[in-house]
Amino acid sequence: MPLKNYIRDIQGFPKEGILFKDITPLLINPEARNKCLKILVSALKDKKIDKVIGVESRGFFFGMLIAQELNVGFIPVRKPNKLPYETISATYDLEYGTDTLGIHVDAIQKGDRILIHDDVLATGGTAKAVCELVERLGGEIVQCNFLMELAFLNGRAKIKGNDIFAVITY
Ligand code: 5GP
Repeated sequence: MPLKNYIRDIQGFPKEGILFKDITPLLINPEARNKCLKILVSALKDKKIDKVIGVESRGFFFGMLIAQELNVGFIPVRKPNKLPYETISATYDLEYGTDTLGIHVDAIQKGDRILIHDDVLATGGTAKAVCELVERLGGEIVQCNFLMELAFLNGRAKIKGNDIFAVITY
């Protein structure tokens, strides 16, 4: 079955007017999950990744699987007051209001080759904030990769200049 069959549309979540792409049918199926992981990793051949970032919280699922497959470190990028050690943070705009993401200051060494992973690229605000955190710590962004890209929202424009990969495009 095509991987798209494991993504479920939920109308009106988390609020009215939003069509939410639910990845839980993909997570629950080991064959589909593995197929998806293989595609993500195949886009990383010879890229010499040092560490994988997973973005809270749905970026943690495949982020950790990719890190394990590549045998490299995993870095959680998290919402405020979740990381226990010294952090730097970046604030970005949402449709209404702002959001903030943070990373431990010692997670990245200067020159580290970093893969940024999240489940969805929508407007690109989240990914842009994560790129900013990586750059501030001296990391080199090798690729931003996603399970899904909602291309009609043109999130790519916000992180242009980076290599961008998505398994599924809508
Ligand atoms: P952006 O900042 O690109 O607008 O939104 C991307 C972030 O919002 C990601 O961290 C992603 O988890 C979440 N997100 C936005 N829309 C969806 C959606 O339809 N499905 C899922 N699973 N996550 C979404």
